[in-house]
Amino acid sequence: MSEIVDDIKFIDEEGKRIDGRRVDEMRPLKIEAGVLKRADGSAYLEWGDNKVMAAVYGPRECHPRHMQNPSRAIIQCRYNMMSFSVSDRKRPGPDRRSIEISKIISEALENVVFTENFPRTSIDVYIEVLQANAGTRVAGLTAASVALADAGIPMRDLVPAVAVGKADGHIILDLNGKEDNFGSADLPIAMIPRTGEVLLMQMDGHMTMEELDLALSYAKKACQEIYDIQRDALHRRYASQAGTEDDNDDDDDLPDEEA
Ligand code: UDP
Repeated sequence: MSEIVDDIKFIDEEGKRIDGRRVDEMRPLKIEAGVLKRADGSAYLEWGDNKVMAAVYGPRECHPRHMQNPSRAIIQCRYNMMSFSVSDRKRPGPDRRSIEISKIISEALENVVFTENFPRTSIDVYIEVLQANAGTRVAGLTAASVALADAGIPMRDLVPAVAVGKADGHIILDLNGKEDNFGSADLPIAMIPRTGEVLLMQMDGHMTMEELDLALSYAKKACQEIYDIQRDALHRRYASQAGTEDDNDDDDDLPDEEA
C-alpha cells in the first residue's frame, strides 16, 4: 500500500536528508555491462533501490517497413515497469507514463547515436524496471546508453542522466521515492559532461532561476560521476572479454567465432 504522508521534514538541522545524504549527494550507483547473452548489448544497473535492465538489439531491418527512414536508423525504446517493481502493483502493459518515458529516452539517444550510418534500420532498446524508487527514467537512460555501447553501436558519447529536485526549499540531487512523491520539484536531466550538452530536461514543479542554476550545477557534477561509472562498466566488460582480468570466467559470453 502507498504511504500517506502529510508532513515530512526532508532536511534536518544538520542539513542531512531522510536517508542521511547531503543535499548534493547521489545514491550509490553500480553498473554492469554485457549481462545478457541473447541481446546485442546490455547493461544492468542498481541505483539506490532502483534495479534496471537494458537490452539493445540491432541495428536490424526496421519492421513495419513504412517506419523505415531511408537516410538513417530509428531508435525505438520501450520502457517498462514490472508489476512487482513498485509498492502498489503496477498494471502490466504500456500506459501514458511509460509511452512518454519511452519517447523521451528514444529522442535523447537519437542525438548521440550515428543513426545516419544505418539507413532503413531500427535500433531497439528495451528498458525493464525490476524495482523502482524514483529516478527510473534517468536510470533507464543511463543503462541504455551503456547497453548501446556494449552492442558496439557508434555513438558520439555516453549519456549520463540524473534527477535534481527541491524539498523543504532546498535543491537536492538524485531524489529518492519520498522526495520525488512529496517534494516540490523534480527535474530529470541528461547531460554530456564533455560538452555540457543537455539531451533531456523535464520539469515537474517550480524553481526560481537561482535554484535552477544550482540544480544544473549539481546535475553537471553528478553526470560526470555517472559517466565515470558508465565508462568503468565498459572497461571491465572489455577487459574481461580480452582475458586481461585475473577473474576472467566470461568466455561463454563471447560469440562462437571469438570465444
Ligand atoms: N511509481 C509508482 N507507480 C507507478 C509509477 C511510478 O509507484 O505506476 C513510483 C516509482 O517509484 C517511480 C516514482 O514513482 O520511480 C517516480 O515516478 P516518475 O513518474 O517521477 O518517474 P521516475 O522518477 O521514476 O523517472
